[in-house]
Amino acid sequence: MGNVLRQEERKMGNYNKVLLAVDFHSDNREIVERAESVVRDNGSELLLIHVNEPLAVAYTADGMATWGDELVSLETSIRKESQKKLADLATRLSVKADNAFLREGRPSSEIHAVAKENGVDLIVLGTHGQHGIQLILGSTANSVLHGAPCDVLCVRVKN
Ligand code: AMP
Repeated sequence: MGNVLRQEERKMGNYNKVLLAVDFHSDNREIVERAESVVRDNGSELLLIHVNEPLAVAYTADGMATWGDELVSLETSIRKESQKKLADLATRLSVKADNAFLREGRPSSEIHAVAKENGVDLIVLGTHGQHGIQLILGSTANSVLHGAPCDVLCVRVKN
């Protein structure tokens, strides 16, 4: 009985809200599985985030203004597609629609913002284990680690 109580106390003291960050251009399977396992072990609530980076701003500011319209239309398609992928993933993981965030901007800033706004206590994301200069310059995982408002679990993804 004592052991059961101690296990329950441990569960309640652990992560209440877990934010899983997913990009849709790589295989998220391992990251999703780790997040599911943390959620199961801690009895946590799962939140999802995907961030679309604005293409039009980046390229039109770079002297390629003639591409503006095409980029805007490409952005619209990407937004629609990521909305669908995020909704599908939310359904598969039984995440309620209010907890699936589709944001625009810089991934690390938006991940931090959603974590703060929602009282998240663990962010889960992938790391592709870059070495040397790439590590110094910083991947999304590095940027999220810097200034994160809570714990961060970087799941090592095999290339
Ligand atoms: P990267 O540094 O781009 O290789 O990405 C590392 C991890 O950061 C990915 O496995 C995702 O968990 C997360 N991530 C990267 N880009 C995004 C994005 N646009 N939206 C949400 N999460 C992202």
